Order: sequence, then C-alpha cells, then structure tokens
Amino acid sequence: MRNTDSIIRRAEKQCASRGTRLTKKRKYVLTGLLESDKALSAYELIAVCKEKYDEDIPAMSVYRILDFLQGEHLVHKLNTASKYASCANIEDDKVGCYSQFLICRSCSKVKEVGLKPSMMAELQATVQDASFKLVNPQLEMNCLCDDCA
Ligand SMILES: [Zn+2]
Ligand SMILES: [Zn+2]
Repeated sequence: MRNTDSIIRRAEKQCASRGTRLTKKRKYVLTGLLESDKALSAYELIAVCKEKYDEDIPAMSVYRILDFLQGEHLVHKLNTASKYASCANIEDDKVGCYSQFLICRSCSKVKEVGLKPSMMAELQATVQDASFKLVNPQLEMNCLCDDCA
C-alpha cells in the first residue's frame, strides 16, 4: 500500500519549487489517482471526489486540474485509453524520464516503468530510418497483469 500522504507532501514540495501550488482540489484529484491502481477517466475522478470528499468538481475544472498536474509531471495521460494515471516518479525517482505504461486489458491496472535510454535511442533510430519523426515517446503496452493472466 502506498503512503499517499507522504507522496502528496513530495508533490507539494515539487510544485513549490516550481512556483506553483497544489490547491485543495488539485490534491483531491491527485490523491484519487494515487489511491487507484487503475487509470481513471475525468468522469471517474469526478465520482471519486464526490464520494470521498463530498466535493462537486465540474468536468471543465477536472480537465483543467489534470492539465495542470500533467504540466507539473505528476500525472500522465494515457492516449490509448483516454485515462489518467499518477506519475511513478513522485514516489520513486528511479523510474526515469522515458516512461512506458503497462496496461492490463482485462482489469485496466496500470504500471509505469522506466525505459532504458539505450532502448529509447534504438527506437528513435528505427523511427528515423522509416522517415518519421517521433512526437511523443510515451509507450503504452497492451498487457495482462498476473491477476488476470
Ligand atoms: Zn511518470
Ligand atoms: Zn488485470
């Protein structure tokens, strides 16, 4: 079980060092993602905030909060699923900057793992050889977790 409080404190410090602030609602949304081992959609996050904090956050605000959290590198958007997951780097700096997401196709559990720079370089070269330019290096893998396999 993750220690959400200490992760939130790290996130607060990280924001402060960048001159931004983790407001109450931003904290609610981030906590919702931290306490879920699955990626959540904006609408699922609205339901979590309502249930856990009795706070009605309009969809527009949730999207703005998610944009902010992405800008602060606290949250990632999974493009294939249109859902969001908290960044594993907040609690563990070792994940590194090239993240790859393992997504269970059965239960939607998500794990962020670091990609070795050498692998990233190889991938870049393959893309370039094909006369393409890599725009977003985020990898999302279709998987089955141990519980579902
Ligand atoms: Zn991350
Ligand atoms: Zn699963």
